[in-house]
Amino acid sequence: MEFVIDFIYVGDGDGIVIWGRNPNEQDFVFFLDGGNAEFGTKVVEHYRKWIKPNLYNRRTIAFINSHPHADHINGLIEIVKEIGNEMTWGIYNDPVKFISDELRHNIKQSALRKEDADIEHLYKSFQKVQELNELCEQYGIERKEALSDSFNYNEIRILSPSRKFYTDKVQLFTNIDFLKVVNYQKTYSQINESNELLKPCDVVNEKTDASPENLSSTVIELKDSNGERYILTSDAGVESFDDMERNGFNSENLTIVQLPHHGSRRNISTEWIAKFSPSMFLISAEGNEKHPRKAVISCIKKNVPNCRIYSTHKNKGTLSYTTNRDVFPNRNWGSAESL
Ligand SMILES: [Zn+2]
Repeated sequence: MEFVIDFIYVGDGDGIVIWGRNPNEQDFVFFLDGGNAEFGTKVVEHYRKWIKPNLYNRRTIAFINSHPHADHINGLIEIVKEIGNEMTWGIYNDPVKFISDELRHNIKQSALRKEDADIEHLYKSFQKVQELNELCEQYGIERKEALSDSFNYNEIRILSPSRKFYTDKVQLFTNIDFLKVVNYQKTYSQINESNELLKPCDVVNEKTDASPENLSSTVIELKDSNGERYILTSDAGVESFDDMERNGFNSENLTIVQLPHHGSRRNISTEWIAKFSPSMFLISAEGNEKHPRKAVISCIKKNVPNCRIYSTHKNKGTLSYTTNRDVFPNRNWGSAESL
């Protein structure tokens, strides 16, 4: 299979459209998240203008919901509202399915009583998953779990989370006592500009994202007909990558890796920058002080000197990569500028 991978600018969020093609046979379109709610229509417009008119009659349209945070699922819900009638199935990350009705009820009650910001945030995720579930029912969209053992083709695979890793993380981020102790909604640390320049890799290594919800994000691998591989990481992090490695992930010879979590320093390490060492890192980010973080960019430049880095914030347009230009129509777009 060959691919066009479109990273649409959706600020701090992911709005990625993957167009897969078996030449002269069949097309596949996967909507991987959709940014915040206001970006859903933009993604649909992109699809209607650049992709849909060129599709074969034999086509499969689907979505992938990496995790139920607003900057990923809210736009996706808008996409499904508009073109759910074209979709056959969806891969979705639904933590509610993995907990008891009693626990769900207790989380809801705690959120309504406003006991803790993290619990309210979690309950919002639950409501969004519910909304997506109802749309799937309305449009007859088949639901598949976003786990590495539930969806695997040679050309498109889920690398993370594994069932074990996911179950562990869900237990953690739905544990009311745990959520009352941690403070994910309020973590903010001052940016030290001089360290950022002088010791970028130290800044990258200093903190890792322990948010179990982010770590449960889907990591996707695409493989084209030449065996080139492309990794889409959503908001996953170092622990997710370690788990992938334990489950046999080979990080050698990667063409594209999406920098996780909009280029945050907390979701990558110097070790994983070096392990991935792709030809290109792609970022979906707004271009604020945290996303992408300057230290991350500098640390990549130090460790992977030939790697090109592209971010959607640069021109606020669409970043697009085509695995085989002979197979897809030419859009006559200019080339992107690396960071
Ligand atoms: Zn995100």
